[in-house]
Amino acid sequence: MQKITVALAGNPNSGKTTIFNFLTGARQHVGNYPGVTVEKKEGICKYDDYEMTLVDLPGTYSLTAFSVEELVARNFILQERPDVVVDIVDASNIERNLYLATQLIEINVPLVLAFNMSDVAQQKGLVFNIEQLSQLLQAPIVPMIGNKGKGKKELLDAIVHTAKQEHTLRIHRINYGDEIEHELSALVTLIVDKEQELTEQYGARWLAVKLLEQDDDITEKVRNREILDAVQNSIEHLKSIFADEPDVVMADRRYGFISGACQETIKMTVESRHNYSDMIDAIVINRILGLPIFLVLMYLVFFLTFKIGAYPMGWLEMFFEWASQAIAHAWPAESAAWLKSLLIDGVIGGVGGVLVFLPNILLLFMAIAMLEDTGYMARAAFIMDRVMHKIGLHGKSFIPMLIGFGCSVPAIMATRILENKRSRLTTIMVIPLMSCGARLTIYALLIPAFFAPRWHGPMMWFIYLIGIALAIICIKILRLTLLRGETIPFVMELPPYRIPTLKSVAIHMWQRGWMYLRKAGTIILAISILLWLASSYPKPSEEKLANLDAEKAQQTNLEHSVIGRLGRAIEPVIKPLGFDWKIGTALIGATAAKEVFVSQLAIVYAVGSTDEGTTTLRQRLRANYTPLTGFCIMLFCLIYAPCVATVAMTKQETNSWRWAFFQFFALTALAYLLTLIVFQLGKAIA
Ligand code: GDP
Ligand code: MG
Repeated sequence: MQKITVALAGNPNSGKTTIFNFLTGARQHVGNYPGVTVEKKEGICKYDDYEMTLVDLPGTYSLTAFSVEELVARNFILQERPDVVVDIVDASNIERNLYLATQLIEINVPLVLAFNMSDVAQQKGLVFNIEQLSQLLQAPIVPMIGNKGKGKKELLDAIVHTAKQEHTLRIHRINYGDEIEHELSALVTLIVDKEQELTEQYGARWLAVKLLEQDDDITEKVRNREILDAVQNSIEHLKSIFADEPDVVMADRRYGFISGACQETIKMTVESRHNYSDMIDAIVINRILGLPIFLVLMYLVFFLTFKIGAYPMGWLEMFFEWASQAIAHAWPAESAAWLKSLLIDGVIGGVGGVLVFLPNILLLFMAIAMLEDTGYMARAAFIMDRVMHKIGLHGKSFIPMLIGFGCSVPAIMATRILENKRSRLTTIMVIPLMSCGARLTIYALLIPAFFAPRWHGPMMWFIYLIGIALAIICIKILRLTLLRGETIPFVMELPPYRIPTLKSVAIHMWQRGWMYLRKAGTIILAISILLWLASSYPKPSEEKLANLDAEKAQQTNLEHSVIGRLGRAIEPVIKPLGFDWKIGTALIGATAAKEVFVSQLAIVYAVGSTDEGTTTLRQRLRANYTPLTGFCIMLFCLIYAPCVATVAMTKQETNSWRWAFFQFFALTALAYLLTLIVFQLGKAIA
């Protein structure tokens, strides 16, 4: 067995992950690239006599140093020197996709080009002369249909073949025209002479190209003054000739190279401009129908999450109820009553209370993955682009906001796709208003407790919409005040529609579900135990409990505990919102992780009552609060203080505690104000 490393590069949406999953199956490992929060996926594939370690590089259009993703991909290729780089090319969109290939050719890595999406290319009427194109690009080309696994064997053969080959310098390379080539060759001579170490690592021509492009990362690495001066002179000289920056001219040349290569080797069979993607788009992103269709789809997602999720949720609830009763019955009387309470009220109540919502989470993420894989999410961003433009951001900001429906942490990370600092800050500030998966658990507990079944879907939809509406209003306010500035125009991409594969949807669901389980087993478990302790101790003295019946004694117990006192202390503040102290303690706990709200209510209501498992938490909530209060809790939880992880991420990505605190307190103040208005108005009307 020979071990080799294979890196998968390619534009976003070219099918990299699909092919990666097909090649590696379940043997995957997800980590982070050192120092940056870009996900690194690795997997193993055994073929022939080779054990290949595959790395799914971040999707990029180019290899500049402008974005973290590009820098990560580039550094991996340059520093780890994978034995083979596979560039996954979307063959239906060939000219744009080959831009990355030109850069890989330039680095002179052992390269295999996978022409993925060849089914789509064929539908579009594209016919490739593979052999000729492969000669022009100096790399083997393998046509593939990634989501069907077609071309897998051919790809593996090409990888093995390339790995076996003695790697030589390519003969053909992109010609940048006389003027630039002249400067390049002068620089190459100088670099070879003065920077031996860098030359060995990166190759002199590539270094020269990057220096002329004024690439920050490479310019920093070059110590030699003579080279830097020569570069400066060359740039000035070229600017005077072209009246444009050298990197712009060079990019033009690369496109020219691609365009030339494609003209020679690709034919269109039919003028098929109006393919079916365009036909669907005529309706889906229609000026009038677009927004209603988006709203209806969102409604369907929540309807399904609730309707179908209700069954497995019921089973899980029954299971946990059975488990706590079984423990209660089997427990020997008079021995270690505290441990029994810890297990039943703390662990099963707290963690079980959160775990029952796993099916809802899985269903929500299945729906989101399907919308993403079909290409609909890009349309949603496109539709929102019109709205966003009016409020001073472009639709690209809506992509991180959509990710926020999953979790604010990756959503904030995803704002890196926004180049403009102010747009980015604005987007980060409002992301917590997108209801995340953790808040879904709160809604999933409260909505059925207070509203009739036919209102479950609509209610959920309504809450999510309030979040989006508030985000839009907050963006407008921020753009008019703290974060004023221009919006830069940007072309929104619309990838063609596709049928999602079962495998990719299943993988998305599984990754999400596993994250949720892990969170329940670690953070939520730890906090549940802490909260149980704080709800049970200190105990009041014996005399105090002497003349009380069991129910009253439990109540006194709870009120005497740390949680009870804390709750009492904040009660005056939250009373105008219709919340009692029990809700108050849950709100405090939930700043650690929003699911804790559910665990904490489960714990206080379990510790504070004597009836073991005879009434469910929902029944107790219904007996204690009105639907108006129920709604106010959800409204408050939607808006107030983001969880600790989000605060940390905001700090990291804005590089400032000020913005993190601002987000924390401004959102809490907003939550308070709105809930106050809704509760007081609601009470007045009722
Ligand atoms: P990545 O962003 O490059 O990782 O792209 P993904 O692997 O997530 O793929 C994007 C979408 O393209 C998914 O919905 C895939 O199912 C789909 N896809 C991948 N390969 C093909 C292909 O050869 N033909 C078609 N029609 N769809 C594909
Ligand atoms: Mg991917």
